[in-house]
Amino acid sequence: VNEPRTHRPGYEFLDGLTEEEDTFRGEVADWLRTHLVGEYASARGIGGPADESMWELRKAWEKELARHNLRGMAVPVEYGGRGLSLRMQLIFAFEYAASNAPYRPSSASEDLFAQTLLVYGTEEQKHRFIPDILSSNCYWAQGFSEPDAGSDMASVKTQAYLDGDEWVVEGQKVWTTFAQFCDWIYVLCRTDPEAPKHKGLTILMMPLDQPGIELRPIRTMAGNADFNEVFFSEARTKVDLTLGPVSSGWGVAMTLLSIERGTSLFSYQLMFERELRAVIDSASSVGNAESGELRERLIRSWSELRLLGFFNQRILTTLARDGSVGPESSIGKLLASTWHQRLGNLAVDAAGLNAALVQTDYELPAAQKLFLLSRAETIYGGSQEIQKNLVAERILGLPR
Ligand SMILES: Cc1cc2nc3c(=O)[nH]c(=O)nc-3n(C[C@H](O)[C@H](O)[C@H](O)COP(=O)(O)OP(=O)(O)OC[C@H]3O[C@@H](n4cnc5c(N)ncnc54)[C@H](O)[C@@H]3O)c2cc1C
Repeated sequence: VNEPRTHRPGYEFLDGLTEEEDTFRGEVADWLRTHLVGEYASARGIGGPADESMWELRKAWEKELARHNLRGMAVPVEYGGRGLSLRMQLIFAFEYAASNAPYRPSSASEDLFAQTLLVYGTEEQKHRFIPDILSSNCYWAQGFSEPDAGSDMASVKTQAYLDGDEWVVEGQKVWTTFAQFCDWIYVLCRTDPEAPKHKGLTILMMPLDQPGIELRPIRTMAGNADFNEVFFSEARTKVDLTLGPVSSGWGVAMTLLSIERGTSLFSYQLMFERELRAVIDSASSVGNAESGELRERLIRSWSELRLLGFFNQRILTTLARDGSVGPESSIGKLLASTWHQRLGNLAVDAAGLNAALVQTDYELPAAQKLFLLSRAETIYGGSQEIQKNLVAERILGLPR
């Protein structure tokens, strides 16, 4: 717990920086220090994968990053990105996290969708969409889950059929994060009802702003309305907006979900470092840091976070070596989501009675918000039980 405040999480894993890397690190750090000021400073640490707070301000911040070419670190230059090495991408992520800059609203579009588009998109699709994602002009929602198809995603019923050069889509999606702020949605549709359930699926890219699509935001117990029901009634999209070959939708969706579980881990871990620090400060400021039980939980939490860091390092090593991560990404998802939920419990206990207060307009104290929002983490991107099944079957070789 007495880790010096100057400690820079993450860098211990890079084993020293080259001159070029250190120059880049300095430039990013300086830029963030001089630009994360004024109105933007009020959004420090705000937002998250399930938190839409200050969306418009964070979107303006994204544009600021884009104007200074500080986006698309992992995207090749020909599509408007920086095409940097994995180490440089990490340096950017470390400095970004250390500055406590706002959670990037574009991360689902840039880190998940654009990366999937790079694998499965046609050249025309990549050139059409990726530069717009990187300049923060185009946000994408994920239309996979349905009321009866969550963990069992291959059971989706939303149907698409061809009408001339257009797909016509009928059905419903649910838990569609931030769709109310998005311009486009990629939708997992059943295009061949006769084929076995994993084989008759196709991903279609659809503009959200059209008469055949209706959104209904869902308000959660944290007070946010971060996700939506999406209804498709004769909604349309052009046939050249199919992502990957027809009937390949299951493979495309699996690629995207493994990116969601694997490579985004590191930036979460850095966010966790900051949150744990805030919980330690909160326990100290209300006098709860004297409690032996709480001290033990804080120490345990800190130690487990170090272990999570080492695990993430192994994931990154695999990624650098093989270009992708296998079923091990499920272990990372399990470790990170359950650790974060325990931190949520700890945050509430550390803050004591302060955590129980709710301001007017349902404004929650930080500890309570952390507690409530972390509940979702063992659900999205594949639930905890599904990750355990994957570890059991694919890593331990246990029978189904
Ligand atoms: C914050 C948040 C954001 C989300 N954003 C999106 C989004 O943008 N787009 C999108 O498409 N979806 C999104 N989802 C949906 C998410 O992918 C699903 O909630 C998740 O896949 C689980 O599906 P379900 O909710 O239907 O639960 P179910 O699949 O009905 O599961 C219910 C319970 O049964 C367990 N279970 C199910 N099957 C098994 C099994 N085979 N073995 C053991 N246990 C099992 C589950 O673990 C769970 O505890 C989001 C969810 C959350 C919480």
